[in-house]
Amino acid sequence: MSGSRKSGSGDTLVDVVVVGAGFAGLSAAERLVSTGRSVVVLEGRDRVGGRSLSGEVAGVKVDLGATWVARRHTAIRDLASRVGCTTTDQFAQGRNVLWMAGRRRTYSGTIPKVSPATLVDMARMQTAVNKLVATIDVNAPWETPGAGRLDAISFGEWLDRKNALPNTRALMTIVSKVQWGCTPGDVSLLHVLRYIRAAGGLNHMLDVEGGANQDRFVETTQEIAKRVAERLGERVRLETPVRRITQDDEGVTVHTDSGRLRAGYAIVTAAPAHRAAIAFDPALPEQAEGLTRTWRMGVLSKAFVAYEKPFWRADGCSGEAVTDTGTVFITFDVSPGPGGPGVLMAFCDPRVFDGFDPETRRDLVVQQLVDLYGPQARIPIDYLDHCWGSEPFAPGGPHPAAGPHTTVSYGKALTEPHGRVHWAGTETAGEWAGTMNGAVLTGQRTAERVLTLLSQDVQEGASR
Ligand SMILES: Cc1cc2nc3c(=O)[nH]c(=O)nc-3n(C[C@H](O)[C@H](O)[C@H](O)COP(=O)(O)OP(=O)(O)OC[C@H]3O[C@@H](n4cnc5c(N)ncnc54)[C@H](O)[C@@H]3O)c2cc1C
Repeated sequence: MSGSRKSGSGDTLVDVVVVGAGFAGLSAAERLVSTGRSVVVLEGRDRVGGRSLSGEVAGVKVDLGATWVARRHTAIRDLASRVGCTTTDQFAQGRNVLWMAGRRRTYSGTIPKVSPATLVDMARMQTAVNKLVATIDVNAPWETPGAGRLDAISFGEWLDRKNALPNTRALMTIVSKVQWGCTPGDVSLLHVLRYIRAAGGLNHMLDVEGGANQDRFVETTQEIAKRVAERLGERVRLETPVRRITQDDEGVTVHTDSGRLRAGYAIVTAAPAHRAAIAFDPALPEQAEGLTRTWRMGVLSKAFVAYEKPFWRADGCSGEAVTDTGTVFITFDVSPGPGGPGVLMAFCDPRVFDGFDPETRRDLVVQQLVDLYGPQARIPIDYLDHCWGSEPFAPGGPHPAAGPHTTVSYGKALTEPHGRVHWAGTETAGEWAGTMNGAVLTGQRTAERVLTLLSQDVQEGASR
């Protein structure tokens, strides 16, 4: 039962319309429904989960989108355990592979085996980043002291100004590609610092043990979303893109291709760039409109290559590799266990991946795995990839690649309600922005705010 009703003109009547069935939208709906409110969740795609998507390679379930969860990500962990999903450690035993400037080396721990000069330089840059990160106002980065200065340059320009050595720069480029789906020159320094602060610091953001990459979900992350959506039942409507939201003093009207819904409030969880696909009447104010124009999504692609066994483990390798050459720039071992199949997950650079046909993409990835792990990598038993920049609806991810000036100019509009339209979604989070955990928290918080407003509306109506 959705609890929705029909108006005389055929519009569906509910308390709240939620736009988007990712973790933010589903969490908002779950909270609203738990208080007895009527809700409809409208999702443009033919699936729930948003930037979480399951795939299968050699019979093993894998995460084509969001994967890891930190111990401190308690909101998504709670949600997962409520629907019976469990975690497993990210495998990290053995030596990691580093392929830099055409040379293969192996190392243990988080710090790659590089020259002493590079190690000193990396430590210097890490200290410089940490010093700036400590100044960031995570809830309102645009109000950080010196925000204008930090937002005026790209991360790449800052690395230049700091005279980062080539290897340090190469490693920072890899971090930028995997975190923001772009090169350091494309993203504002303030945006980078905000995300590092929100992620609990640079070490927490990058580490496996004790960090953001500590655990994976056995059932996959999309399975969590599917189970939450199952509980919401017919309240969730797929393949229903929201085209237009109009509003007046009494409520909002949400327009889709298949009809209209009338509600007290709308909670929109689309990423900032995707808000642009919705026509708002009254129109968004300049700052909110600027946000949708300038916070374009970064892009990232992932490939999974399956083998009979995780053969790299027998060679003493963890399956974790970092490389500055070619299409693949990071790999991880996501095998279900030691017995096989062995599965390597590879992050791929969309610029030298997405445009190729599937067979070429596979060849590019497999060849690089041969370079990293030896000739046994030449004979996979299965392969799967996903290009987030080529998604037909709401493309891009993992995060916006917000360029210089865009946080100070438009960041405030991330969360500022537009009348009866309220915003949620991981980009609107303070702490844990960019993660599934952040998405869940924003959904729950925005639902709370809207619940308060719905109660106030009732009180005001009664006193009139
Ligand atoms: C490759 C990749 C790797 C990642 N790795 C991790 C990780 O390891 N750990 C982690 O915590 N996070 C990771 N993330 C980020 C994580 O996926 C997101 O932070 C989180 O899923 C965002 O949830 P959300 O609900 O805020 O937004 P989304 O998941 O983007 O959901 C928004 C939904 O709104 C829908 N929508 C948009 N516009 C409309 C419209 N007009 N009408 C109807 N529906 C609309 C979209 O289709 C989408 O389903 C990764 C993401 C990617 C892409």
